Amino acid sequence: MRADLHVHSDASDGTDPPAEVMRRAGLAGLDAVALTDHDTVAGLARARLARPESVTLVPGMELSCRRAGHSLHLLAYLFDPDDPELAAQTRRIRDDRVLRARAMVDRLAELGVPVGWDQVAAIAGASVVGRPHIARAMAASGAIAEPGEAFTADWIGDGGRAYVGRYALAPVHAIQLVRAAGGVTVLAHPRAERQQWQASDGQIAELAAAGLAGVEVFHPDQPESRRAGLLATCRDLGLVPTGGSDDHGSLTGYRIGVETTPEDSYWRLMAQASGNEPLRRS
Ligand SMILES: [Zn+2]
Ligand SMILES: [Zn+2]
Repeated sequence: MRADLHVHSDASDGTDPPAEVMRRAGLAGLDAVALTDHDTVAGLARARLARPESVTLVPGMELSCRRAGHSLHLLAYLFDPDDPELAAQTRRIRDDRVLRARAMVDRLAELGVPVGWDQVAAIAGASVVGRPHIARAMAASGAIAEPGEAFTADWIGDGGRAYVGRYALAPVHAIQLVRAAGGVTVLAHPRAERQQWQASDGQIAELAAAGLAGVEVFHPDQPESRRAGLLATCRDLGLVPTGGSDDHGSLTGYRIGVETTPEDSYWRLMAQASGNEPLRRS
């Protein structure tokens, strides 16, 4: 059984529509795939319609959380998509992305950078506006030579002069919200190489005590050398080790299915959820 429990569509920051993601899941020979767009289930209806007969679709989402100033992602599965409290919180996270981008543009204006909101919105197009779009507008204005220079303390790097943080959930709160909606949560890529924060064993234990169900061990950015330690932590804490490709379409080189969840992990995880059903292979 091959289950990729972490993929994105253009309902968040992936490049492919949900139907195309499902088509690629079938081509990759997956038995199950979880659609886990950031803070939204907007792609699920389209994924469901396009689901190949051979592929089970697991409804999910990747929740933006923050703990002690660091961002952290929680994968959530099989929660009730109509749960009012969870829906309200994810709507707040999504709305805040735009408010935050606007606030950064305002701060840049105060610093004398001639970047306008319309320009940033045009660059973002249909995708959710974020710092990369502001950075491109700054480069176009001549304030910086290339977009990468925007991510410093001078501009919109973390804690920078024009930086504005965005709304995110405390992870313990997120775990409880998803549980209350009948779902299960998995700590996403806790020791990926390309992120500042690395989850310690103590922090994972804290989340386990709050009701975390699993830890994403098999992730493309998590090197082999870090997986054994995470597997041991899972064993010690009774957590389910999972895996997924974190495919974002062309942004990540169409890698759906490159990492998967062990079969026993898949069933252990599904057994803990009651808020929704996987759409099963026939
Ligand atoms: Zn993530
Ligand atoms: Zn992701």
